[in-house]
Amino acid sequence: MNRASNSRFTFSSVFTLPLLFATLSLFAEVSAAVKVESAMPASVRTVLESTRPLEVPRDGSLPLYVLPISNALHGQTDTLTKEALSQLAARGIGYTVAWSPNDRDNTLDEGLRIAKIARDAGLPVAVDATACLDGFFNGDPSTLHIDAQGQPFADLSFDPGRKMGCPFALADRVPVIRERMEFFLRGYSRARATIDFIFADWEIDGPIEWNDAWANSKKCQRCRARIKDLDDFRVFQRRLRAIRSDLQRRVFAQPVRSRFPKALVGNYGVYLHDGHRYWYDYYERLPEGAPFLADQRARYREWAHEFSPCRYTMAMPVVYTWYSIYHCYDFENTDYRWFYNLLLVGSNSGQATKRATPIVTFVHRNTTAPPPNADPGVQPFGPEQYQELLWHLLLRGHDGFFLWCLAEELGEETRLVHEVYAASLAYRKFLDRGQPVSFEVPKQPGPIVSGLRLGNRVLLRRTDIEAHPGPVQLRIGRHQLEIPVPEKRCRVIQLD
Ligand SMILES: [Zn+2]
Repeated sequence: MNRASNSRFTFSSVFTLPLLFATLSLFAEVSAAVKVESAMPASVRTVLESTRPLEVPRDGSLPLYVLPISNALHGQTDTLTKEALSQLAARGIGYTVAWSPNDRDNTLDEGLRIAKIARDAGLPVAVDATACLDGFFNGDPSTLHIDAQGQPFADLSFDPGRKMGCPFALADRVPVIRERMEFFLRGYSRARATIDFIFADWEIDGPIEWNDAWANSKKCQRCRARIKDLDDFRVFQRRLRAIRSDLQRRVFAQPVRSRFPKALVGNYGVYLHDGHRYWYDYYERLPEGAPFLADQRARYREWAHEFSPCRYTMAMPVVYTWYSIYHCYDFENTDYRWFYNLLLVGSNSGQATKRATPIVTFVHRNTTAPPPNADPGVQPFGPEQYQELLWHLLLRGHDGFFLWCLAEELGEETRLVHEVYAASLAYRKFLDRGQPVSFEVPKQPGPIVSGLRLGNRVLLRRTDIEAHPGPVQLRIGRHQLEIPVPEKRCRVIQLD
């Protein structure tokens, strides 16, 4: 998308003086554009070069968010920032600024600068509040567990660099963390700026029941005193997740919503579900004795209901190709190992969420977080099937995507998800208001069918992981449909 390569004028063999001036000024304009392009931060340039302007306008629907460009325009000139955001807007790609509590005046100024330019460009005002939330467990002895001898001790089983502590020792941290958030919210309010979208990737911090947390709580005199049936994992889990949700509500969702009632607010991995989680983050391990649902070698954990207690307004499931997924299943078709798991994750959140609550899903195709000694035999999820999966997520109630990836993956990852996003805008009515017709996940690599019903019409997509001749049957209410062999596209079927 190099603007300099677009021929914007043609030479005339005869120059009149005005024409010469006009030509020279066009030269200046083109060379200014070249300057802007070459000064564009590398990540933004990669995203722009990997995508094309939308053919169907986005109008009010969610843009595609791309985490690796978050904050990339900090320190850039207004001219370049305007150019970058208008090119992103033309592609339907959103841009987030990061609030930093350690550099708050500076990052507030940047946030307000971007808020204005983004609005002028027609993009939502979007914020990454991760750094504000981070640090409930800040290593202070007052936040740690207390052993039988009265000595504080930390839980290092999540991240050796993070002293996780006692779930009952965080009360004093709430006003500190909340004030970080309030500083920025006040600043936006005073400047009469808006906030349309605000998320956090708040993960390894605060009470979490996995790894050695349960074992450590059993060794802590305060935890033992506060949780009566500590030997019951479900009781432990419920208590910890209730505290964790309460923290998120008090320092994040509530302050945001009281000042910006229309804002979409959510946290990575917090979403509505059926009581189970079908994936593990890279730092999570199931403790011995915790209940699970077995499926081949996969162990699906029981999960507490956090979304509503947090008072979030947008659900943020995580549909990542975690390395461990590959070895959980025996499907000879290796693409189906990914497809099967990720469709379980996506169907779970789609089915549990009312259409009025937007689902903005974190996605990633390349194998996620492989260990240093990764098995070289692990076949990554094929790009075409990954795109099919994205379609099925949309047709099962997901509303938008949030891409995370490594810097070297950015071009390809962006292209894949943007192609689906851009094409999906042609079906906006269905995507905005249609009701999903199926959440079925075949236990074997058979045909996968998803659809959205709007009145007497259904938007449908069928994907065959392996060749499967002939139509498949789908019952929608009193209608029995025959879904023909897929053609790598969606089709709209009229119900009689
Ligand atoms: Zn404790």
